[in-house]
Amino acid sequence: MSLTIIEGRECGRCTACCGFAPIRTDTLRKPANSLCLHCAEGQGCTVYDVRPQVCRGFYCGYFFLPELGPNWHPENSGVVIRSESFNNDTITILILRLSEFLISEEFAGMVGAWVQAGIAVEFERVGPEGHLPAKMEINDFLEDAVAAGDLREMQKVFAWSLAYIDQNHTWERDDTAFWSALN
Ligand code: SF4
Ligand code: SF4
Repeated sequence: MSLTIIEGRECGRCTACCGFAPIRTDTLRKPANSLCLHCAEGQGCTVYDVRPQVCRGFYCGYFFLPELGPNWHPENSGVVIRSESFNNDTITILILRLSEFLISEEFAGMVGAWVQAGIAVEFERVGPEGHLPAKMEINDFLEDAVAAGDLREMQKVFAWSLAYIDQNHTWERDDTAFWSALN
């Protein structure tokens, strides 16, 4: 998968990765699934000019996959594609909120296309605040529905997979303390 940023793709007002991601740098630390101290509602990053390299260097998958239209922008969709997983020919879809987009033909069609292309597709959920996320590969569960082109059946697998992660995972605590040397 290409890691070339597509021209014109922007974060806009999205601050998703200021929340779900754990940060452990020399100048900024925060646990997973907790909002960064420097993220202000409606304003975004209040230390933008001096934000650490880890923030400058992070781009979610929306920036790299030309097949994703505007509905896939994390602000619109409630899902973040994890570009970190691309190296393993895997697409990890972090589902932050249960949006209408998850039951759209656009979402099911794209996930089905990835499965058909032999790409491993994972669903990921954030746990309680201060806990690490959990993920599960869903290809095996989707195989029959994708082969039959049955979007409705695919949607049932999506719902089951999300509920399975939420209800069965033992969330691992992330004890990283909130700390910042940034102004
Ligand atoms: S999740 Fe993507 S669009 Fe949202 S702030 Fe992070 S990099 Fe930008
Ligand atoms: S320093 Fe800024 S960009 Fe980085 S996580 Fe905090 S609010 Fe987000």
